Amino acid sequence: MRPIIVAPSILSADFLHLGDAIEMINRSDAEWVHCDIMDGHFVPNISYGMPIVRAIRPATQKLIDCHLMIERPELYIEAFAQAGAEMITVHQEASPHLDRLVEQIHSLGCRAGVAVNPSTPVELLVDLLDKVDMVLVMSVNPGFGGQKFIPRALDKVRRLRRLAPDLLIEVDGGGNAETGAKLA
Ligand code: ZN
Repeated sequence: MRPIIVAPSILSADFLHLGDAIEMINRSDAEWVHCDIMDGHFVPNISYGMPIVRAIRPATQKLIDCHLMIERPELYIEAFAQAGAEMITVHQEASPHLDRLVEQIHSLGCRAGVAVNPSTPVELLVDLLDKVDMVLVMSVNPGFGGQKFIPRALDKVRRLRRLAPDLLIEVDGGGNAETGAKLA
């Protein structure tokens, strides 16, 4: 079995005590801190932006993994890189210029991911797979924490793995011991 990276989302944190949540992650085996950035346009909810990423950066040695659920990501990628993001993931549905976005992310010294919503086939990314560092498969509809895992994501991960045997695959939403074991 491949090694599994756990990336807790700070969307689940108590924002009044965010430092405690980061400390909890620091003490855990989780390797990444996942930041869910929502703009109220690409998804029907607003979460937080660069200031939170900037605040977390000095508080952890873990990799900061920014998942941009936003429109016009090209306008904000540099700001997230400057705030301390090391992995920046943009949505396939948010731009017709994914290749350019991936290049923009790489030019800032970050790793680049592309995400697909539950209704988007992973096959749409076939011409980018040799260029991206990660593909994120949404296993819930993006916009809210605490949703139930969509089982179809398992088949998408299988198809993606066949297309790209060595690719890093992130699965986002409804993760727990049961769905995690199935995904592994
Ligand atoms: Zn996410």
